[in-house]
Amino acid sequence: MRHAYRCEDCNVAIYPTTTRAELIWLKERSHVAREVARHSGTGLDQWMMEGLAFLDEHSDHSVIIITTE
Ligand SMILES: [Zn+2]
Repeated sequence: MRHAYRCEDCNVAIYPTTTRAELIWLKERSHVAREVARHSGTGLDQWMMEGLAFLDEHSDHSVIIITTE
């Protein structure tokens, strides 16, 4: 199964390589993740970078988490 962030306004989705729980966490705590990224020399995991970029791009939109086979 794959988990995705989907924007209902733009009708697009991305599938970061991570778990559903991680996607939920990142969506609820995106401001925390951004702080970590700002102060971390090593940067974030790839899935987190992808997720944050998507959440930024669609910050005023309706983003949901979906699961597909
Ligand atoms: Zn959107």
